[in-house]
Amino acid sequence: MNHKYIVIIGAGAAGLMAADVLSAAGMSVDVYESKPSVGRKFLMAGKGGLNITHSEPMDDFIRRYDQNEWLKPMIEAFDPNAIRGWMEDLGISSFIGSSGRVFPTEMKAAPLLRRWLSSLKKRGVRVHCRHYWKGFSDEGDLRFATAEGEKNVAFDATILALGGGSWASLGSDGAWVTVLAEKGVKINPLLPSNCGFKATWSPFLQPHLGKPLKNISGWVGNHKDHISSSEAVLTTYGIEGGLVYALSRPLREEIMTQGSATLYLDLLPHITKEELIVRLTSSAKHSRDNTWRKAGLDGVKGALIRELLPKNQWNDPLSVAARVKQCPIPLHGMQPIDEAISTAGGVIREALDENLMLLTLPNVFCAGEMLDWDAPTGGYLLTASFASGVFAANGVLKKLRATTAD
Ligand SMILES: Cc1cc2nc3c(=O)[nH]c(=O)nc-3n(C[C@H](O)[C@H](O)[C@H](O)COP(=O)(O)OP(=O)(O)OC[C@H]3O[C@@H](n4cnc5c(N)ncnc54)[C@H](O)[C@@H]3O)c2cc1C
Repeated sequence: MNHKYIVIIGAGAAGLMAADVLSAAGMSVDVYESKPSVGRKFLMAGKGGLNITHSEPMDDFIRRYDQNEWLKPMIEAFDPNAIRGWMEDLGISSFIGSSGRVFPTEMKAAPLLRRWLSSLKKRGVRVHCRHYWKGFSDEGDLRFATAEGEKNVAFDATILALGGGSWASLGSDGAWVTVLAEKGVKINPLLPSNCGFKATWSPFLQPHLGKPLKNISGWVGNHKDHISSSEAVLTTYGIEGGLVYALSRPLREEIMTQGSATLYLDLLPHITKEELIVRLTSSAKHSRDNTWRKAGLDGVKGALIRELLPKNQWNDPLSVAARVKQCPIPLHGMQPIDEAISTAGGVIREALDENLMLLTLPNVFCAGEMLDWDAPTGGYLLTASFASGVFAANGVLKKLRATTAD
């Protein structure tokens, strides 16, 4: 079976993990990558500290994904502990941060990627950079554009791990959507996820842009279903940051259906409205600025309340408290997909069999962010990319074993 031609296209988290599994099984593997070097988004993810996975209980972990039923068997088969074990095997230790997020001890992605590539090389994995996949030839081979011209590559099984559609400069440009759609593959449109949203601020708020709103919570819609305590940053275009990313799915859905959305913030989630009213009324002898500051409404929080509450209500503790505990931020758009941390949409579950093989393209498997799942930041994106890479690789092994046995 190991004389079969296995081709992986896309050398990101999913593609390299598929190469890892297949080469460990003794298979001969070729990885093709459009960029001059591999793992560019993975390296970018490591810039501010590589949050590789999360340590929360598995039931909570799985619930973070919109397609949790689909992803459950994949993640259970390569779960956060397995990710930590895999890193450990590469000589990279990890730790759990105070938020439960898991990071390599060195924080960066580069040392991990270096060791990973070296291990793949030792197992004979061949990496071909500057090969841009364009689709299939009339004979069914894989077509690549290279500096030397077009090249066709035959395969027994291939795994497409082409990423989503954000940060195109790092390689995942989403152009595969057209290629696969022409082959009858059903794909949900690629949309920005974990992205910023557009809001219009008055000149008054300008000095506060770029500053974080810390220890807040937020939700979307009438119910407080989506609350998550975190922080957000007001920007020249609107608002971004962990809290906004965590709510990007319901916000996106509201914008797609209604053209606009409202993000609700609780600027002081650790105290009740009643406690806040007491704080705002008890220091009547102080100036308003001082009273607000003592109540926790200094800096950007106070500025946001002034921005969103009519001036004639600033001295009314009840109105201020009500706005602080339920501060509606009108949003009128999403930031472009290229600036999003990840992409929602992609190849739909129904287009694939239980091993992630495309139903319309036998022996062509898919993995990673190009599949139609969505999750917040927190290590969930890389975990599902790795896990689906492992799953597709095992799917290839099953398929090839079945073919060899026939
Ligand atoms: C700024 C930033 C920070 C992030 N931080 C985190 C984080 O801390 N934790 C986390 O879990 N996730 C994070 N992510 C998300 C995470 O990096 C991605 O979800 C993950 O890399 C997706 O892996 P993938 O293998 O599916 O796709 P990618 O990593 O995008 O890999 C796809 C590969 O396919 C190649 N390719 C695409 N098209 C072609 C083609 N036609 N021919 C040949 N090759 C092609 C690309 O060049 C690329 O190398 C972050 C993302 C960004 C942008």
